[in-house]
Amino acid sequence: MAQAANILIVEDDAHIRRLLRATVQRAGHQAVEAADARQALSLLDIEKPDVVLLDLGLPDRDGLELIGPIRARSNATLIVVSARDDSAEKVAALDLGADDYLVKPFDTEELLARIRAALRHQRAAAGGEAPAVVEAGGIRIDLDHRRVQRGGTDVHLTPKEYGVLAELARRPDRVLSHAQLLKSVWGPAQEERVEYLRIAVRGLRQKLEEDPARPRLIVNELAVGYRLMLRDEG
Ligand code: CA
Repeated sequence: MAQAANILIVEDDAHIRRLLRATVQRAGHQAVEAADARQALSLLDIEKPDVVLLDLGLPDRDGLELIGPIRARSNATLIVVSARDDSAEKVAALDLGADDYLVKPFDTEELLARIRAALRHQRAAAGGEAPAVVEAGGIRIDLDHRRVQRGGTDVHLTPKEYGVLAELARRPDRVLSHAQLLKSVWGPAQEERVEYLRIAVRGLRQKLEEDPARPRLIVNELAVGYRLMLRDEG
């Protein structure tokens, strides 16, 4: 039984709004709708949504400008659903505090999977039980003991490789931007050294992926960042 959530849909296109509403309702969630930024902010206070689906092209304000105010007023998971398939824009959204990004036209199953992942993390956070052990595809990551195993055997990682893996494992199924990963693992001064990150990810894939050339655990979000895939597809 899926967990029901209250979902705020911020979208000026009535057709897409209906599609989003039907999709989340089909999964047993409640939907409230806002057609512009002003309405979105007032509904945010009234409805206290668990998840916000945010369009960027809004009539009264750019959706990117809404991310900060939403973050400041709500703990809702913020998923940008935008027609803008521009990596700079995705990075901006994530760095402003969005949790995820989906490009229109989106796959409704993919959207529901992202919502499920969001709710799973919220539940864990609310219980104060940040998952200390994360398991995916035969890999076991023990965040308390800084221990990584593959098929029951310890894997030796460099400190940076471990740092990147741990950051991703703390927010599984969500994309983290290059800058977010670089800032937390290498420090704010290294935020732009994407090559550092590439080297660490290459090392991780060689040690953890069945086929490092076709990664299924640590996947690329082209020109945006990386995502640790936990959930079953579909
Ligand atoms: Ca729009």
